[in-house]
Amino acid sequence: MELHSLFLFAILAGIFLPAPVDSAYVAYNTSSGIVPGKINVHLVPHSHDDVGWLKTVDQYYAGANNSIRGACVQNVLDSVISALLDDSNRRFIYVEMAFFERWWRQQSDVLKAKVKRLVDSGQLEFINGGMCMHDEATPHYIDLIDQTTLGHRFILDEFGKKPRVGWQIDPFGHSAVQGYLLGAELGFDSLFFARIDYQDRAKRISTKTLEVIWKASRSLGSSSQIFTGIFPVHYEPPDGFNFEINDVSDPIQDDPLLFDYNVRQRVNDFVAAALAQANVTRTNHIMWTMGTDFRYQYAVSWFRQMDKFIHYVNLDGRVNALYSTPSIYTDAIFAAKEKWPLKTGDFFPYADRENAYWTGYFTSRPGFKGYVRSLSGYYLAARQLEFFKGRYSTGPNTDALADALALAQHHDAVSGTQRQHVAADYALRLSIGHKEAEKVVASSLAALTSSRLKSTQMDSNPEFQQCPLLNISYCPPSEANFTNGKSLVIIAYNSLGWKREDVIRIPVSSENLVVRDSAGKEIESQLLPISNISLLTTEYLVKAYLGISASGSARYWLAFSVSVPPLGFSTYTVSSSKSTGSESRSFVSTVYTSEEGSVENLEVGQGDLKLLYSANEGRLTHYANKRNLVTELPELSYSYYTGYNGTDRVFQASGAYVFRPNGTFPIEPKGQVPLAVIRGPLLDEVHQQLNAWLYQVTRVYKDKEHAEVEFTIGPIPVDDGYGKEIVTKISTALSSNKTFYTDSNGRDFIKRIRDYRADWDLDVHQPVAGNYYPINLGIYLADETRELSVLVDRAVGGSSLVDGQIELMLHRRLINDDTRGVGEALNETVCVLDDCKGLMVRGKFYFRIDPLGEGAKWRRTLGQEIYSPPLLAFSEEEEGYNWKSSRTTTFSAMDQSYSLPNNIAVITLQELQSGKVLLRLAHLYEAGEDKDYSVVSGVELKKLFSGKKIKKVTEMTLSGNQERKKMEKSRLEWKVEDEDEEKVVRGGGVDPVKLVVELAPMEIRTFIIDFDYLSSHGDSDIHHRL
Ligand SMILES: [Zn+2]
Repeated sequence: MELHSLFLFAILAGIFLPAPVDSAYVAYNTSSGIVPGKINVHLVPHSHDDVGWLKTVDQYYAGANNSIRGACVQNVLDSVISALLDDSNRRFIYVEMAFFERWWRQQSDVLKAKVKRLVDSGQLEFINGGMCMHDEATPHYIDLIDQTTLGHRFILDEFGKKPRVGWQIDPFGHSAVQGYLLGAELGFDSLFFARIDYQDRAKRISTKTLEVIWKASRSLGSSSQIFTGIFPVHYEPPDGFNFEINDVSDPIQDDPLLFDYNVRQRVNDFVAAALAQANVTRTNHIMWTMGTDFRYQYAVSWFRQMDKFIHYVNLDGRVNALYSTPSIYTDAIFAAKEKWPLKTGDFFPYADRENAYWTGYFTSRPGFKGYVRSLSGYYLAARQLEFFKGRYSTGPNTDALADALALAQHHDAVSGTQRQHVAADYALRLSIGHKEAEKVVASSLAALTSSRLKSTQMDSNPEFQQCPLLNISYCPPSEANFTNGKSLVIIAYNSLGWKREDVIRIPVSSENLVVRDSAGKEIESQLLPISNISLLTTEYLVKAYLGISASGSARYWLAFSVSVPPLGFSTYTVSSSKSTGSESRSFVSTVYTSEEGSVENLEVGQGDLKLLYSANEGRLTHYANKRNLVTELPELSYSYYTGYNGTDRVFQASGAYVFRPNGTFPIEPKGQVPLAVIRGPLLDEVHQQLNAWLYQVTRVYKDKEHAEVEFTIGPIPVDDGYGKEIVTKISTALSSNKTFYTDSNGRDFIKRIRDYRADWDLDVHQPVAGNYYPINLGIYLADETRELSVLVDRAVGGSSLVDGQIELMLHRRLINDDTRGVGEALNETVCVLDDCKGLMVRGKFYFRIDPLGEGAKWRRTLGQEIYSPPLLAFSEEEEGYNWKSSRTTTFSAMDQSYSLPNNIAVITLQELQSGKVLLRLAHLYEAGEDKDYSVVSGVELKKLFSGKKIKKVTEMTLSGNQERKKMEKSRLEWKVEDEDEEKVVRGGGVDPVKLVVELAPMEIRTFIIDFDYLSSHGDSDIHHRL
């Protein structure tokens, strides 16, 4: 307070600069550093470069498609580098490594050497340092780690540097996982961003709490907290200080021979803006973010003005201006020895004004979100297989998929807030990366199945095909006809660290089939008919996506149980029972339709879980689990919100970002909904066509205690002039008292209370949209005796708007732009030639009701299984060839007797280019979440890497770019207001002899492992031998 009045006095006293009389060269003094006792204005030059939004990443880089927007990142980097070389006091931060990498590889060695010097001197600093500035609502945490690791590795390899600061300035709300995992666990000392709820911001400005210590993990507490700075307005400079060539801010005109000499005026403007900002922060340091989207295409136009401001403002002397970076700012703030307010939880949802909750993008582009998620799990498995075989120095690898997935995490990519042609570009990159990774998977499986063969037999390596369109029942290898004596060989690979039992399904064309397991034993299998409607859909979609005509030969789904060892595979063969002369064959499911009309109630479920349907009403009425005696009268329904049809911010429309409903309508089928019930020994299915564009299949597996719901939604009709957002609701009698829990990027569950925010008194304007939260893993609610959990297969938005009820938004199609810049309506279509229809989306969710306190085991275990489904590869066994006798039919990379504890997952197992191996282990439970599994558990590395000799294990920070020990020594220890005692549990050091890694709840530990390949031995070790 005193400090500020002193400066006010200075303004009034007017220490004014005298105007010179001659025009001459001015050597601007830009060398100032921090001046104690003054208000220090840290000018942070930056350019916010989206790796795809209105244009594709490459169009932005090259400056193509400029009729959409004049943006060329190549210009930014070229001109910034030369501006930095011109004056060694100038500084710049760079954030998006996808762009920087593109630029770097085309530079000369001479320029590269200069740029390295700029980086060494701190003039050019990499912050954040992932490939992109990722979204925080809709990515899975493994993707966030992977994309950050990729960027950090580039920075380390090329520059030997480790980014110190998180810079998530644009994402639309901020996740707990960002704060503690992609912040503190990376070794970052601070994190900065712009977008928080407008009500939250107003309160923080008035209470000087824009800068906080964010303790985002309940389990890891103060061991994983981070200093977090929220900008008072946005990530632009204060008004009047934008200096791109077309910007309207007044430049400093300091030539006295020209008209409009304005040095005094501009210095006063600068000082006034600085004092205004100093009023809302706690120290005498303030940061000005000097730049915004795609700025510095002509960098001198910014630096020229900042040179002058620094020179004249410091001559004036009321405040001190300096070239700075967020790291310099962070160190200055830290040196102030202030105590900071504590922030827990996260920053969702985000509204930028009353009726503008950015909660629509939690669901926008559900097809793309599903694609990203399924490839994320595939990439995890493919890297494991790449490691088991040995990484190729040339030839196919998983790098293209890694790059494509990294770009897809951008805050205008998986978020669904890009233009249509940009969404197509991301999808194309993913499909190219996927194709290459498929080759890696196929060759690895070929090698692993051939490991018993002598090298003379190796030329007969089998071809492995995979079926990425299995979800629309399209899989040519499994649809082949097996009457000619050939058999289908299916390898099921399990990327989980524990053994799994799962029912898989493949489309087949005949009914007399027999399935055998790895040992050649016949196993139970079930045929489920594929309906004609479903076949027509498959034909249409195959034509749309592959441009070919599907043969349409599939008539059934063939389902059977697979049992697969950890980090390993099992082999199954399918052959015609006629040609093998087998007695048994697949069970053909019985089909009953309620139109047959003889019963009132239909029960499904061959195991403990029973679901009862009213045949007359066509709906679910009873849920009963015989094992734990949980019963409930649930309702599963669908409805839609019509989107508000505004065209400006007052009449805010629902769009790609914003969810603004304008009424809700139940989807009530006219008259009776005929149910089709398909029953068999492994699973039962209930099929319901709810209307012309909504089809639902509910599955109950004999050995599972949850219901799996597969929905097919679309084309959503919009010809009535209204966009529609489709939701499903699962209603129960649980009295959940406004409370529910949603995950943070698939990891920690965060408590939500309807119409409530912990940090301020909420003014409720949007009772639906304002209670929506991002869901990546699941959502649950509880009362005093039971809990209802729902898990998802991709990012969706969801809420509990009524006690006992969970709501998920599954699809949305809108006809207006929501005026947040994308400039397009979110209206996805699928076309065959010129015939376009609204996008059809198929996905799954899973629900289960447990006694209170018993839901976590299911959520965590099934959550891993959903993320990492068995990877299926198909080959053919020629007649007379005996696969089983000549090939390896089961494999596990781990010791045969070993399995990871149920609370630990391998989230990265990857051979790096250096030949070293990157291993990440994650504890799956939070402290206190489960009575059995919320405990410290150990992983025996010797058994995990069976047959390999471990030479050295080095614990690293999350992105693997520095030793954890070093990071812990150098990280800043911030002080918190009202700090209370807390006990944080973390795993201890790894004994180099025992090699056991301990993990405490929610801990993720990252290691670089060196193997001694020369002394490796054992059957499972084919590494580097092939
Ligand atoms: Zn952006």
